[in-house]
Amino acid sequence: MLSGPSGVGKGTVVAEVRRRYPDVWVSVSVTTRGRRAGEVDGVHYHFLTDAEFDRLVAEDGLLEWAEYAGNRYGTPVAPVRERLATGAPALLEIELQGARQVRARAPEAQLVFLAPPSWAELENRLAGRGSEPPAVQQRRLAIAQAELDAAGEFDVVVVNDDVTRAADELVGLLTAPSSGRSVGASE
Ligand code: 5GP
Repeated sequence: MLSGPSGVGKGTVVAEVRRRYPDVWVSVSVTTRGRRAGEVDGVHYHFLTDAEFDRLVAEDGLLEWAEYAGNRYGTPVAPVRERLATGAPALLEIELQGARQVRARAPEAQLVFLAPPSWAELENRLAGRGSEPPAVQQRRLAIAQAELDAAGEFDVVVVNDDVTRAADELVGLLTAPSSGRSVGASE
């Protein structure tokens, strides 16, 4: 699993992995967040209504789920199970609460923390994204601070100093013989 603070570039690193390593299987999360420009339903996320999300939770259809900045996000469990059953790794990009749930349910999962080169750089990136109003950015920055404090809970820390390099390092972890079967990346 890949995790890490909002704005550190988890999404960008995972997009780079998808682009350059099409064989790497990346879980598509469900979310109640509205679709951003350029996002495709079923590719970046499955965009659900609150009622649809409730139903998935009730059916125990999610490996983990969390509320993040006013929206809910979750990992559909069936596709991950199918993928792991073939002996191939699965990459999850999720936030910290979800990473903790995966750790509890699947202790063999490898947890990767994507860290910013510096706090100033993270602030710049969150402000520069421009996709959210300032109040939402502030909220994400506060969450990011708490998430940075959790880096020690992870198996590996990858510094996102360069997207290409970080993507290579992540794929190296996924395919290393000693690695767990799934790698989660969290910002
Ligand atoms: P965004 O709204 O920027 O796409 O995502 C917000 C946060 O939710 C990011 O930290 C992202 O990694 C996280 N996230 C995306 N999908 C999932 C998921 O399935 N589960 C959890 N717990 N977090 C997710």
